[in-house]
Amino acid sequence: MKEQFIPVAPETSIVQILARGVCPICTLMRSLQNAMVENAHAYPATRLCNFHAWSLAHASPAIDAVAALKSMLLQAPVEVASRAVEVHACDWCQTIRQHEGEKLTEYVHELKRDNFRKWVSQYGTVCLFHGRCLIDMLPAAEADLVRQMLARSQEELEKQLLAFQARIQKGETGGGGVLGHITEFLVSQRGLTR
Ligand SMILES: [Zn+2]
Ligand SMILES: [Zn+2]
Repeated sequence: MKEQFIPVAPETSIVQILARGVCPICTLMRSLQNAMVENAHAYPATRLCNFHAWSLAHASPAIDAVAALKSMLLQAPVEVASRAVEVHACDWCQTIRQHEGEKLTEYVHELKRDNFRKWVSQYGTVCLFHGRCLIDMLPAAEADLVRQMLARSQEELEKQLLAFQARIQKGETGGGGVLGHITEFLVSQRGLTR
Protein backbone atom coordinates (compact mmCIF):
# COMPACT_ATOMS: atom_id res chain seq x y z
CA MET A 1 0.00 0.00 0.00
CA LYS A 2 1.41 3.36 -0.95
CA GLU A 3 1.23 6.29 1.35
CA GLN A 4 -2.17 7.83 0.75
CA PHE A 5 -2.79 11.53 0.83
CA ILE A 6 -6.32 12.82 0.62
CA PRO A 7 -6.20 16.42 -0.61
CA VAL A 8 -7.63 19.01 1.77
CA ALA A 9 -7.73 22.79 1.46
CA PRO A 10 -4.82 24.45 3.31
CA GLU A 11 -7.35 26.62 5.22
CA THR A 12 -9.19 23.58 6.62
CA SER A 13 -9.55 23.72 10.40
CA ILE A 14 -7.43 21.51 12.63
CA VAL A 15 -10.57 19.85 14.03
CA GLN A 16 -11.79 18.86 10.56
CA ILE A 17 -8.60 17.10 9.54
CA LEU A 18 -7.77 15.26 12.75
CA ALA A 19 -6.91 11.68 11.83
CA ARG A 20 -5.11 8.86 13.58
CA GLY A 21 -1.43 8.42 12.85
CA VAL A 22 -0.73 11.72 11.10
CA CYS A 23 0.35 15.17 12.27
CA PRO A 24 -2.49 17.61 11.43
CA ILE A 25 -0.11 20.56 11.10
CA CYS A 26 2.01 18.58 8.62
CA THR A 27 -1.14 17.59 6.69
CA LEU A 28 -2.06 21.25 6.21
CA MET A 29 1.50 22.31 5.31
CA ARG A 30 1.59 19.56 2.71
CA SER A 31 -1.74 20.79 1.31
CA LEU A 32 -0.41 24.30 1.06
CA GLN A 33 2.74 23.13 -0.74
CA ASN A 34 0.65 21.12 -3.19
CA ALA A 35 -1.62 24.12 -3.79
CA MET A 36 1.43 26.31 -4.47
CA VAL A 37 2.85 23.90 -7.04
CA GLU A 38 -0.53 23.32 -8.71
CA ASN A 39 -1.56 27.01 -8.76
CA ALA A 40 1.75 28.83 -8.80
CA HIS A 41 0.14 32.00 -10.23
CA ALA A 42 -1.77 32.42 -6.95
CA TYR A 43 1.51 32.39 -4.97
CA PRO A 44 3.87 34.73 -6.83
CA ALA A 45 7.50 34.24 -5.89
CA THR A 46 10.75 35.80 -7.02
CA ARG A 47 12.94 33.51 -4.91
CA LEU A 48 12.47 29.78 -4.32
CA CYS A 49 14.58 27.27 -2.42
CA ASN A 50 15.96 24.16 -4.08
CA PHE A 51 13.01 21.94 -3.04
CA HIS A 52 10.27 24.33 -4.14
CA ALA A 53 11.96 25.30 -7.42
CA TRP A 54 12.25 21.62 -8.37
CA SER A 55 8.66 20.93 -7.30
CA LEU A 56 7.58 23.75 -9.61
CA ALA A 57 9.76 22.50 -12.47
CA HIS A 58 7.98 19.13 -12.31
CA ALA A 59 4.49 20.64 -12.07
CA SER A 60 1.87 19.66 -14.58
CA PRO A 61 0.35 21.41 -16.50
CA ALA A 62 3.51 23.49 -16.94
CA ILE A 63 1.91 26.84 -17.83
CA ASP A 64 2.26 28.31 -14.32
CA ALA A 65 5.78 26.94 -13.99
CA VAL A 66 6.80 28.65 -17.25
CA ALA A 67 5.57 32.05 -16.02
CA ALA A 68 7.08 31.71 -12.53
CA LEU A 69 10.44 30.36 -13.67
CA LYS A 70 10.62 33.02 -16.39
CA SER A 71 10.32 35.85 -13.86
CA MET A 72 12.81 34.15 -11.54
CA LEU A 73 15.23 33.66 -14.42
CA LEU A 74 15.04 37.30 -15.48
CA GLN A 75 15.61 38.49 -11.92
CA ALA A 76 18.35 36.01 -11.04
CA PRO A 77 21.53 37.77 -9.88
CA VAL A 78 24.24 36.63 -12.30
CA GLU A 79 27.07 38.99 -11.45
CA VAL A 80 29.95 37.41 -9.60
CA ALA A 81 29.62 38.15 -5.91
CA SER A 82 32.66 38.39 -3.70
CA ARG A 83 30.80 36.60 -0.90
CA ALA A 84 28.45 33.61 -0.92
CA VAL A 85 24.95 34.44 -2.12
CA GLU A 86 22.21 33.49 0.31
CA VAL A 87 20.77 30.39 -1.31
CA HIS A 88 17.94 29.48 1.03
CA ALA A 89 15.71 32.55 0.79
CA CYS A 90 12.34 31.32 -0.46
CA ASP A 91 9.03 33.17 -0.72
CA TRP A 92 7.04 29.93 -0.49
CA CYS A 93 8.92 28.71 2.60
CA GLN A 94 8.11 32.04 4.19
CA THR A 95 4.38 31.71 3.39
CA ILE A 96 4.43 28.16 4.74
CA ARG A 97 6.12 29.31 7.99
CA GLN A 98 3.43 31.93 8.49
CA HIS A 99 0.59 29.46 7.89
CA GLU A 100 2.33 26.94 10.16
CA GLY A 101 2.42 29.52 12.96
CA GLU A 102 -1.29 30.26 12.55
CA LYS A 103 -2.21 26.57 12.60
CA LEU A 104 -0.07 25.91 15.70
CA THR A 105 -1.88 28.78 17.45
CA GLU A 106 -5.21 27.24 16.39
CA TYR A 107 -4.13 23.89 17.87
CA VAL A 108 -3.23 25.61 21.15
CA HIS A 109 -6.70 27.20 21.28
CA GLU A 110 -8.45 23.92 20.47
CA LEU A 111 -6.66 22.20 23.35
CA LYS A 112 -8.78 24.31 25.71
CA ARG A 113 -11.85 22.37 24.54
CA ASP A 114 -12.62 19.13 26.41
CA ASN A 115 -13.62 17.05 23.39
CA PHE A 116 -10.53 18.00 21.44
CA ARG A 117 -8.24 17.36 24.42
CA LYS A 118 -9.81 13.95 25.08
CA TRP A 119 -9.54 12.87 21.46
CA VAL A 120 -5.92 13.89 20.98
CA SER A 121 -4.84 12.44 24.33
CA GLN A 122 -6.20 9.05 23.17
CA TYR A 123 -5.56 9.02 19.44
CA GLY A 124 -3.70 12.19 18.47
CA THR A 125 -0.36 12.36 16.69
CA VAL A 126 1.98 15.24 16.04
CA CYS A 127 5.45 15.07 14.55
CA LEU A 128 8.47 15.76 16.77
CA PHE A 129 9.03 19.25 15.40
CA HIS A 130 5.41 20.41 15.74
CA GLY A 131 5.17 18.65 19.11
CA ARG A 132 8.15 20.66 20.37
CA CYS A 133 6.66 23.89 18.98
CA LEU A 134 3.41 23.16 20.87
CA ILE A 135 5.28 22.30 24.09
CA ASP A 136 6.97 25.72 23.92
CA MET A 137 3.63 27.47 23.39
CA LEU A 138 1.54 25.66 26.03
CA PRO A 139 1.11 25.91 29.81
CA ALA A 140 2.70 23.05 31.81
CA ALA A 141 -0.31 20.67 32.03
CA GLU A 142 -1.09 20.80 28.34
CA ALA A 143 2.58 20.65 27.41
CA ASP A 144 2.69 17.35 29.34
CA LEU A 145 -0.19 16.05 27.29
CA VAL A 146 1.79 16.75 24.10
CA ARG A 147 4.84 15.02 25.59
CA GLN A 148 2.70 11.96 26.34
CA MET A 149 1.29 12.09 22.81
CA LEU A 150 4.83 12.10 21.37
CA ALA A 151 5.92 9.21 23.60
CA ARG A 152 2.82 7.18 22.63
CA SER A 153 3.39 7.87 18.91
CA GLN A 154 7.03 6.81 19.21
CA GLU A 155 5.99 3.55 20.89
CA GLU A 156 3.23 2.81 18.36
CA LEU A 157 5.47 3.56 15.38
CA GLU A 158 8.16 1.26 16.78
CA LYS A 159 5.60 -1.57 17.03
CA GLN A 160 4.40 -0.94 13.49
CA LEU A 161 7.97 -0.84 12.21
CA LEU A 162 8.85 -4.17 13.86
CA ALA A 163 5.70 -5.75 12.39
CA PHE A 164 6.60 -4.33 8.97
CA GLN A 165 10.16 -5.61 9.28
CA ALA A 166 8.90 -9.11 10.12
CA ARG A 167 6.60 -9.05 7.07
CA ILE A 168 9.29 -7.95 4.61
CA GLN A 169 11.71 -10.55 6.01
CA LYS A 170 9.10 -13.15 5.06
CA GLY A 171 9.19 -11.77 1.55
CA GLU A 172 5.92 -9.85 1.73
CA THR A 173 5.78 -6.52 -0.03
CA GLY A 174 3.53 -3.55 0.57
CA GLY A 175 2.41 -1.93 3.80
CA GLY A 176 5.08 0.73 3.37
CA GLY A 177 2.78 3.46 4.71
CA VAL A 178 4.44 2.96 8.08
CA LEU A 179 7.74 4.25 6.67
CA GLY A 180 6.00 7.46 5.60
CA HIS A 181 4.44 7.86 9.05
CA ILE A 182 7.81 7.37 10.76
CA THR A 183 9.51 9.80 8.41
CA GLU A 184 6.85 12.45 9.04
CA PHE A 185 7.23 11.89 12.80
CA LEU A 186 11.02 12.36 12.60
CA VAL A 187 11.42 15.21 10.10
CA SER A 188 7.89 16.61 9.38
CA GLN A 189 6.43 16.63 5.90
CA ARG A 190 8.65 16.83 2.83
CA GLY A 191 9.84 20.34 2.03
CA LEU A 192 9.43 21.76 5.54
CA THR A 193 13.10 22.57 5.90
CA ARG A 194 14.51 23.86 9.17
ZN1 LIG B 1 4.05 18.00 11.90
ZN1 LIG C 1 11.07 26.87 -0.16
